[in-house]
Amino acid sequence: MAEEKNPFKIAQMQLDEAAKFLKLEPKLHKLLREPARIFKANLNVKMDSGKTKTFPAFRVQYNDARGPCKGGIRFHWEETVDTVKALAAWMTWKCAVVGIPYGGGKGGVVCNPKEMSDSELEKLSRAYIRAFWKHLGPDQDVPAPDVYTSGKEMAWMLDEYEKLVGHQAPAMITGKLLALGGSLGRDTATGMGTVICIREAAKHLKLDLNKATAAVQGAGNVGGWTAKLLQQKFGTKIIAISDSKCAIYSEKGIDVEKALAHKEKNGVLHNFPGTKCITNEQLLELKTDILVPAALENQITHENAPKLACRIIAEAANGPATKEADNIINKRKDIFVIPDFLCNAGGVTVSYLEWVQNRTGYYWKLNEVNDKLDEVMTKAFWDVTNFAEKHKIPNRVAAYALAVQKVAEAMRLRGLA
Ligand code: NAD
Repeated sequence: MAEEKNPFKIAQMQLDEAAKFLKLEPKLHKLLREPARIFKANLNVKMDSGKTKTFPAFRVQYNDARGPCKGGIRFHWEETVDTVKALAAWMTWKCAVVGIPYGGGKGGVVCNPKEMSDSELEKLSRAYIRAFWKHLGPDQDVPAPDVYTSGKEMAWMLDEYEKLVGHQAPAMITGKLLALGGSLGRDTATGMGTVICIREAAKHLKLDLNKATAAVQGAGNVGGWTAKLLQQKFGTKIIAISDSKCAIYSEKGIDVEKALAHKEKNGVLHNFPGTKCITNEQLLELKTDILVPAALENQITHENAPKLACRIIAEAANGPATKEADNIINKRKDIFVIPDFLCNAGGVTVSYLEWVQNRTGYYWKLNEVNDKLDEVMTKAFWDVTNFAEKHKIPNRVAAYALAVQKVAEAMRLRGLA
């Protein structure tokens, strides 16, 4: 049988494994396999050329038993409704596993933001809100940035929403820039959360991060900060980092700050002095202590899973491994996996802190935000690790079991199952 690459099918298979472990009631299991609501729209944007272009857009509200739906909006040319459904499911389990009072949602637009001007992106962002605003809001569904969206798009989206509802509503969206009610520490949060998980995993495995090496796939918000923080906080040697064009590699280690500045200036990591160019596939198979997939789904497959040569996989991206790859890694037993929706939960945790600050109108200092993030991530890491050890199950199944239990309890209490 061909390897399953549909992220939503993968998310369903992962849930099935946890449901089996939990002996979940079949009715509840069936409910949790599908999103609660899917909204679709075609967004018409008048492009700079004067021609109108239509972009398919989605918002999926997977589950809101534990609180308002929460999840980013991705702009990507390969976006599909199934990717959005999978990401919305993972948001549900992510918020539950770290214990923040949200359900899960996600949004996406099929577009190529790399080929769009700022004015076109602004029109698209505003059109997204006009299409879905009735279903969004601080108590309904709270979007945030994801791949190829950032504080810039969040500002346009917030502005459009506030025009439509007729009042200020900063808590309707997170990942905002500071001037619009964003939180200190939000830009680094997902990378910071990943690094906190790696720090705890290193303690667990008695690995000295100061002597360790790491390879990071992706040099965006998550990959860039993870690499930078690992290097700055722990002295970990970053031997490789990549973008969509190529991976740069140096046995001696890469100065991440300078490499990212090179990418900022030239648009690519390629040709960063002192490094050689390898492929993203080669990066994944490097011999290294820590491997951080921080780009897109389905990067680790049944083909490269047997060839991985790392001690820890910190899944900063959502869904970086296929189910077949996961099965292979679990059998190998020499790799400690920090599963995606635990590893990258730092972003939504600080989004939650941003939402709390917006709602109370009281703003915390950076160290207060980072301390709260550390507390949430450290607890969640050990909840999952201890549960996995106690029941002799893979970390991913443990993370699912803990998360699904919480969502299932909320659904039972509401009489939904
Ligand atoms: P981003 O747009 O800032 O960066 C994505 C990076 O991946 C870029 O460097 C890009 O060049 C690289 N990339 C794209 N395609 C690639 C490919 N085929 N091979 C290698 N590299 C490739 O996005 P981000 O916010 O850093 O998100 C990365 C991952 O983290 C996604 O899976 C996202 O869902 C997940 N995530 C992000 C956040 C967040 O707060 N930003 C939170 C949780 C999870």
